[in-house]
Amino acid sequence: MLRFDHSVPTKNRLTSLLRRVLVGAAAACGLAAAAGATPSNFSCDVVVVGAGGAGLSAALSAAEAGAHVLVIEKMPMLGGNTLLSASHMLSPPKNRRQAEEKLELLVQAKGGGTSDPALARMIIRHSAETLDWLNGMGADFIRFTPTVVGQPLPDQGIRPKGGRVIGEEIVKTLLHGAETLRVPIQTLSSVTGITQDAAGRISGVEVLNSQGRVWQVKAKAVLLATGGFAANEDMVMCHASLPETMQSTNSPGCTGDGIVMAQSLGAQTIDMDAVTVHPTTLPFSGLVIPLQTRELGAILVNERGERFADELSSGLRSAIEKQPGGRAWMIFDQKILASMPVLSKYARNGYFLKGSTEEELARRIRVSPQKLFQQISIYRSYVRKRHDEDYGRKTLPSLLFSYPLYAVSVSPGIHNTPGGLRVDEQGRVLSAGGPIPGLYAAGEVTGGIFGRSRPEGMGLTGALVHGRLTGRAAAEWALGRTR
Ligand SMILES: Cc1cc2nc3c(=O)[nH]c(=O)nc-3n(C[C@H](O)[C@H](O)[C@H](O)COP(=O)(O)OP(=O)(O)OC[C@H]3O[C@@H](n4cnc5c(N)ncnc54)[C@H](O)[C@@H]3O)c2cc1C
Repeated sequence: MLRFDHSVPTKNRLTSLLRRVLVGAAAACGLAAAAGATPSNFSCDVVVVGAGGAGLSAALSAAEAGAHVLVIEKMPMLGGNTLLSASHMLSPPKNRRQAEEKLELLVQAKGGGTSDPALARMIIRHSAETLDWLNGMGADFIRFTPTVVGQPLPDQGIRPKGGRVIGEEIVKTLLHGAETLRVPIQTLSSVTGITQDAAGRISGVEVLNSQGRVWQVKAKAVLLATGGFAANEDMVMCHASLPETMQSTNSPGCTGDGIVMAQSLGAQTIDMDAVTVHPTTLPFSGLVIPLQTRELGAILVNERGERFADELSSGLRSAIEKQPGGRAWMIFDQKILASMPVLSKYARNGYFLKGSTEEELARRIRVSPQKLFQQISIYRSYVRKRHDEDYGRKTLPSLLFSYPLYAVSVSPGIHNTPGGLRVDEQGRVLSAGGPIPGLYAAGEVTGGIFGRSRPEGMGLTGALVHGRLTGRAAAEWALGRTR
């Protein structure tokens, strides 16, 4: 039962909350949602903490299972890291057992020994039906063949039709679902604690809004979908052995709150020391220039205009860190830009410097025009010979001959904290004594599903599939259908 503890009529309050859902939909298109009035008390079956891909998927599937749901998001924007996702997701086509097994093996190979094969398999094997579910809500995805850990995965890559950016397509679709199912979303409200009743059962959450007001939500199940902690410098430095701090690519909301709150109830964690660093992120904004840009042919030069590494090598991060200023210029051409929707979007937003010749680009980025021209010419000769004599780069797909040329300054940034809460196959958070009744977690707040690292594209798959499955399990619990 959905109950508001207010003096104003329930209908008005519900309308107000739904208005916030709609404002949130605008946020997904790049606008900030306005802070609405905050309810003083609220009662529902399942409260979902965090409105990223995992939280929104969980909320929708819990609502579909018949539960009354409230989503609470601390940022003014909905979508978390999911909204920032710029490349693709992975999903084997339906009923293709060999393709599923290939991806399962790659996940285990990347996971460093801590991926739970059964949990990873569950995510992979429910991914195609989750795509159908999203398509049923209006998403429009197409399949392509990505290369993962050097291996082509035929038809396993998923991206939106028509050059749209994947994170935006996902969040927009889930928000349409929230509108349709009348799932209320409260923004600018941070969950600060999980409450228990006198018998120690989960009873809801405590919330702090942006005006400093505290309110309570009573719920039979609490589903944590608060993402990772890559935006929490102190927490990263406390758990990971990084020599010094780095900028983060993450949404500022990803500060590990769900992990800390669950730990205070005895929850177990795994792989908290694991950190993934993305080699090519934009200074200040932390936006990511996806790996695919380099796979399509982009090269890197330092501030002297010299190429210095195989742009596709696993040692690229340390190679960049050794360059003057710890940064590099990524150079690519119009053809590469046009084939990646996110690059076109960044170009429209003015993130790139542009030159109609090599010399003009060199002047823009203040390197020697002769040097840059010479380096690009040498690189082109390697592409023609299909052999990189300097750094042994294996994939040489572009002569960078489609003008204008573009440059963007990049440096490494913390991209992902793969560790988090231990969960079972229903998404129940585990303590030393077993599942904590009524406490669920999904997405990047969890650890141990993919292990210490994951193939590019698995983050979104994990969030959406895990959110959807866990949302249903939490609803079943809250409605008394499981014990
Ligand atoms: C720049 C970037 C690009 C990426 N590109 C890709 C890609 O192309 N493909 C791919 O598969 N993966 C990609 N990823 C990874 C992917 O985005 C994540 O794996 C996935 O979106 C995680 O979803 P989530 O719902 O668990 O977390 P999020 O989407 O981060 O959502 C967590 C939400 O919880 C909220 N929250 C946190 N604490 C609280 C609190 N106390 N109270 C209320 N709300 C709270 C946060 O504000 C946030 O909105 C990318 C990540 C980044 C950062």
